[in-house]
Amino acid sequence: VDALKKPIAEPKVAGLIRAGEKKAGNANAAILCLVRNEDLDDIIGSILELEEQFNGDFQYPYVFLNDGEFTSQFKDAILRALPQSRKVEFGTIDPELWNMPSDIDEQEFNERMEKLSGIQHADQVSYHNMCRFYSKAFYHHPLMQKYKYAWRVEPGVHFYCKINYDVFQFMQANDKIYGYVLNLYDSPESIETLWVRTLDFLKEHPSYLHEKGAHEWIRDNVQKPRNYDMTKGYSTCHFWTNFEITDMDFLRSTIYEEFMAFLDSQKGFYYERWGDAPVRSLALALFADKSRIHWFRDIAYTHFPYTNCPACPEDSTRCNGDCKPGLFVPWDNLEVENCQPTWIKYEMSQEDLDMY
Ligand code: GDP
Ligand code: MN
Repeated sequence: VDALKKPIAEPKVAGLIRAGEKKAGNANAAILCLVRNEDLDDIIGSILELEEQFNGDFQYPYVFLNDGEFTSQFKDAILRALPQSRKVEFGTIDPELWNMPSDIDEQEFNERMEKLSGIQHADQVSYHNMCRFYSKAFYHHPLMQKYKYAWRVEPGVHFYCKINYDVFQFMQANDKIYGYVLNLYDSPESIETLWVRTLDFLKEHPSYLHEKGAHEWIRDNVQKPRNYDMTKGYSTCHFWTNFEITDMDFLRSTIYEEFMAFLDSQKGFYYERWGDAPVRSLALALFADKSRIHWFRDIAYTHFPYTNCPACPEDSTRCNGDCKPGLFVPWDNLEVENCQPTWIKYEMSQEDLDMY
């Protein structure tokens, strides 16, 4: 773990694509923002930082999605904020992909959420809709279908350091299907039955289990900073999906889709408050080769309240001294919140480690 506190500027692999090279910006990829009209100022803040640190050089297109209609004021403001040459699309979400499905009983939902009132956002139907949409639907949206990779960006996040290579092409060239920055424990109350239901699915489909999956990371055998008996053996470790770069071909695969249909049928997106983060993380840990999951240790990022600020090499100016760690950086508070030590210990190969 200590070795990974050492300075980093970028992954140590050959063939990174730099700004200005012919292949720069050529991956089949988009930046995805799911937002409401009222998120305008906060999403502009996020994308301006992303433009400054990365996308001004690589010029990937944007897709803005909303369950309601974007106002012309919203769209105009986004277009004014971005360079004119940037491709931007705005889409609404089919209610079929967004709304609470008809097999959910609203009264039961309300009763159950009263009991979960200590859990953030549990009482907001829209939050449940959002988690379900990000778990099983965003990659089917007509505006996303043409893309292979999506970089999810949320309102009010920060990117502090220059990213001097094409991250999408890095993923493609190195056979990565998932990229994350932060990796945390979850509130067990929100996912009480997610793991037992997942085991039911595995019992039906034992052949789906990937033998090189990240199986230790999701087991409740490493750190137990709180009482995790509640989740019946799931560590609650999950990639913090507010930053995620996905190869949507994985999400569109039969196994992932069957898993999503199964979880949906178990109703936990509404009768509990299953987040898209633990759902995605379980799918990746069970059904993907762990070497295809990449930790972007070099990307400096905050989504309140957590921050990843890498130490930069002394001769590097890419952070300009701007990477101010927030209330939490991955190397503080290891016992309580951070699953990354478990990931490093059990799931990273020497080859992965050498990349840093
Ligand atoms: P948190 O990070 O878990 O606190 O959740 P957020 O409130 O940031 O929501 C996650 C993402 O979904 C953000 O990009 C939000 O803008 C978006 N989002 C959440 N709820 C809604 C909603 O009801 N409608 C739309 N269009 N976007 C939403
Ligand atoms: Mn957020």
